[in-house]
Amino acid sequence: MVPGQCPAPEPPGESLGQSQGVEAWLRPLQQGLQLEADRGFGNLEGRRERFSAFLERALRQHPSGLPPHQSQALEQLAAGFERYGQESLARRQSLVRRTRQTLHELQRSLQPPSPVAPPRLRLVASGRPEGQPQSLDPDTPLGQIRGVGPKTAEKLAALGLFLARDLLRHYPRDYLDYANLVRIAALVPGTTATIVATVRRAHSFTSPRNPNLSILELQLADVTGRLKVAKFFAGKRFSSPAWLKAQQRQFPPGATVAVSGLVKETPYGPVFQDPLMEVLASPQAPVQSEQIGRLLPVYGLTEGLTADRLRAAIKPVLAAAAGWGDQLPARLLEQEGLVDLPTALTQIHRPDHQQSLTAARRRLVFDEFLLLQLGLLQRRRELTSRPAPPLARPDAAGPRSLMAAFLELLPFPLTGAQQRVLAEIRADLAREQPMARLVQGDVGSGKTVVAIAALLTAIDAGCQGALMAPTEVLAEQHYKKLCEWLPQLHVSCALLTGSTPARRRRELLADLANGSLKLLVGTHALLEDPVQFARLGLVVVDEQHRFGVAQRNRLLDKGLQPHLLTMTATPIPRTLALSLHGDLEVSQIDELPPGRTPIRTAMLPAAEREQAYGLIRQEVAAGQRAYVVLPLVEESEKMDLRSAVEVHRQLREEVFPDLTVGLLHGRMASADKQAAIGAFARGESHVLVSTTVVEVGVDVPEASVMVIEHADRFGLAQLHQLRGRVGRGAAASHCLLINDSRNALARQRLEVLVHSTDGFEIAEMDLRLRGPGAVLGTRQSGLPDLALASLTDDGEVLEQARTVAQRLMATDPELRQHPGLARVLAEQRHRLSQGARLN
Ligand code: ADP
Ligand code: MG
Repeated sequence: MVPGQCPAPEPPGESLGQSQGVEAWLRPLQQGLQLEADRGFGNLEGRRERFSAFLERALRQHPSGLPPHQSQALEQLAAGFERYGQESLARRQSLVRRTRQTLHELQRSLQPPSPVAPPRLRLVASGRPEGQPQSLDPDTPLGQIRGVGPKTAEKLAALGLFLARDLLRHYPRDYLDYANLVRIAALVPGTTATIVATVRRAHSFTSPRNPNLSILELQLADVTGRLKVAKFFAGKRFSSPAWLKAQQRQFPPGATVAVSGLVKETPYGPVFQDPLMEVLASPQAPVQSEQIGRLLPVYGLTEGLTADRLRAAIKPVLAAAAGWGDQLPARLLEQEGLVDLPTALTQIHRPDHQQSLTAARRRLVFDEFLLLQLGLLQRRRELTSRPAPPLARPDAAGPRSLMAAFLELLPFPLTGAQQRVLAEIRADLAREQPMARLVQGDVGSGKTVVAIAALLTAIDAGCQGALMAPTEVLAEQHYKKLCEWLPQLHVSCALLTGSTPARRRRELLADLANGSLKLLVGTHALLEDPVQFARLGLVVVDEQHRFGVAQRNRLLDKGLQPHLLTMTATPIPRTLALSLHGDLEVSQIDELPPGRTPIRTAMLPAAEREQAYGLIRQEVAAGQRAYVVLPLVEESEKMDLRSAVEVHRQLREEVFPDLTVGLLHGRMASADKQAAIGAFARGESHVLVSTTVVEVGVDVPEASVMVIEHADRFGLAQLHQLRGRVGRGAAASHCLLINDSRNALARQRLEVLVHSTDGFEIAEMDLRLRGPGAVLGTRQSGLPDLALASLTDDGEVLEQARTVAQRLMATDPELRQHPGLARVLAEQRHRLSQGARLN
């Protein structure tokens, strides 16, 4: 390319015309799906036909010319809608969800690139002669790399980058695709766009109205027009004159910047909302011509580290990495259609084109998943290597067994899903290989009953059982529930928590050790040293995502190899669960007990809080009870949030002086907590102001209203959990989400909850919106962080990696023939065990 000259833009291709046709086909489908979800999946009766008939027809009549995998997927979905009318609610929800997802992906894949020529950039010849390439190894400190000065090394360290290898894994967070650039005059509100333009003027200042708000304002221009871009910085530290000046200096007049973000309409024309900005070239440091591929990597940067510097530092490391080899053998790469590691690393940092970037990403994602899977499979091998007591005696399910007697006592029959999962568990328990199973089920799906039946199976076989919960409140709830049934079955049962008095504790430990105590319920205290079982057969861990691997393994370290059953109410899609919890078998309770009235959920702005109070008053008058949930216990200086203590005072004194208002939070003494829950359960208090300690397990059927303050502060899965505390009785229940954030994403997240009651759907959206680390607590669950891989988008690579991992473990469990892989895996384990210890 001749410096400074732009090639003519390409004419819009076929794809544009096609994508408009597709849009016209998509829109009614998407509207229909949305409406069906809004109206509770009742198979809407339209003017001409039912929802399912419309979907079946419309999906079959998809536009021609789609890639085969897409048209196939649509055909399959269409076939699914033939039977929609006869399906269960859960199946309907799932089909609607999958259809929406497929259409969304299809829509995304068709978005036409906007045909704009690469920007004018000032070019210089490709740098000075380089001399001999420097010899580097993976552990070379970054400061020793030629061209990385001590200052830059320090900045890199602030990003957690110390060694040459770290730099390689500091992947670009995005790529500027010059094929996708938009001109200023062509910005369309409502779309996400990137422009490349020249800085005319930069100005940073503190807001005249708010001393804690600083504003950086750039006046930009390209050949088509001018645009003002503003970025806001809230916080005291951004208002110092030095900081303001440094900001301004980053964007000198004449510099070329890339700006990307969501475009919004304003009376003054389109603007970027909270844009990402990066200087591509400054008058002092023009872009190197070699950098101008069509894809320019954009890195997560830290203050004072320019993109140029980082790109320059990576370059010699990439050159050296070509000689560092590959942990995967060439044969495997060929079989699996993957590129080699040096190619992948080079192309992820300096992609030649989109295809090579895709291939590079696929290889690196594969590696992340392969290590994840190998780690899980190794752990499974360890978990199940020593034999556990087989727990199903021939007569154990007979009419005289405790388990059968227990099921008789229940005032309801088990749902089909409960029966199926119980059978799966019992089949595991009959084996000598210890069970390692995860039961997933939505809030209220009846996991506890299944757990008790499993524990009784162990006791039937002459063993002891343990039930562990993440909080004292939940442990006590479980204990109370057990006390409804077990005395009638003459099974001894006790509660052990941090606040069990010393004398009671001694007695209880003695009974446990001599085997007269059959079932122990408690918190982590169960794992403490003095707790010795005579014959522990089964451990049930409730709400598994709160338990660290370290805690789980502590039992095994005590020389106990019981069967292990974990239960979680944060369900995730099955393939994901299998892959994430690859060390566990997964069972799913995918059906709710009959007779539940659905919870009506609504979002309220803070200004309309009175409405919520009105509803509470009305429900309490009708004999029901209400929760008011807050994110914090006490007022915090940093955040302007209403706290539980303050709201409790206000409700008791000002809003509901005629009602009894209780308070529950995590910092109360255990006895006080129990008293607060007890009073609420007995109806002695009408309103319970609480923090998220009510999230798990608390079961008060008369509670029919939940008001959640600062709802935008919570994760979706957590809100769904909280909401599950109401709607447990027969009365119609309400959940009001008070949202005082003006953030569009926060609203969008909460909308998911307003429209869906399907825990799986909600968890999936949560995963997409917040990322798996936040949702599942990857650190705590002992999973490695995934730098590139997406648990929601890379499902196919994940399955591929799982298959390869299984094959490797079957043929070469010690990885003797794969020393490179064994080394990386050992390093990962080491890192994770360090992490687990920190928890
Ligand atoms: P989870 O722990 O899965 O959220 P629970 O085990 O606490 O759910 O059960 C929720 C409520 O449903 C409890 O009150 C329980 O007694 C009741 N329940 C459980 N199974 C059934 C069933 N098969 N039919 C009717 N009610 C059930
Ligand atoms: Mg439960």
